[in-house]
Amino acid sequence: MKILIAADMEGVSGVTRWEETDPTHNEYSRFRKIMTNEVNEAIAGAEEAGADEFVIVDGHGDGTNLLIEELCPHAKLNSGGSSPLSMMQGVDSITAGVIFIGYHARAGSENAVLAHTWSSGRIANVWLNGVLVGEYGLNAAVAGHFNVPVVMISGDQTTCFQAVELLGSLETVVVKKATGYFSAECFPIIATLEMIRKASKKAVLRLKDGNAPRPFTVQKPVIVTIEFRQPESADRAVRIPGAKRLDGVRIEFSTKDMLSAHRGFRAAVKQSYD
Ligand SMILES: [Zn+2]
Repeated sequence: MKILIAADMEGVSGVTRWEETDPTHNEYSRFRKIMTNEVNEAIAGAEEAGADEFVIVDGHGDGTNLLIEELCPHAKLNSGGSSPLSMMQGVDSITAGVIFIGYHARAGSENAVLAHTWSSGRIANVWLNGVLVGEYGLNAAVAGHFNVPVVMISGDQTTCFQAVELLGSLETVVVKKATGYFSAECFPIIATLEMIRKASKKAVLRLKDGNAPRPFTVQKPVIVTIEFRQPESADRAVRIPGAKRLDGVRIEFSTKDMLSAHRGFRAAVKQSYD
């Protein structure tokens, strides 16, 4: 039974500032270790429930945050940011379920630590077929393309709320109660690690019982709408074949399925200066 664990960093226990997720700052080394421990606990819980194959995706920044030397010995790690499926690299039709660790709420959310969608500097909103999604939604839709459900998420309370609202009753672990963009009441690491292990176990047990949420399947064709923060980003993104400009900062394009939508989205949001 294969489980994909997709990890990000803004929703890791204790994180409330960008600096803590940025390799050029001193505090980063503490939080990458906590991120690694959270992933290991998710593996341990899933393993207790009977899962026996684990692919981990390092989905934050350039995808080189998790400490491979401390990772559970039988997990495989997808490292690096340029892989074909990005934050979901390794998901396929034999994957039984996906676990999101260290996730964050979508751009513009209230009481949500470091809430953003893909790029805090460039993107204001993203819709799939008119439904507002964050990274949890985009990535869940990629899993949904392979008919794979997201069975658990960890992050702040707003992240968990948004994920349940979009994806159904998956297992949630609130590791901190956000009180602002840069503030949260954080629960101790020792407590959140245990919560993650228990929730992961329960999520996989529910999966085995046929009691997990359904995959998040987006109807085809998939219409991707992106609202940028600056018009110059829309100037570039509208060059994608078939894309149309809705206004100064919004573009839209239609694709045959979620994988093409995901590729188009990544091409549209890639920063370049020509
Ligand atoms: Zn991130």
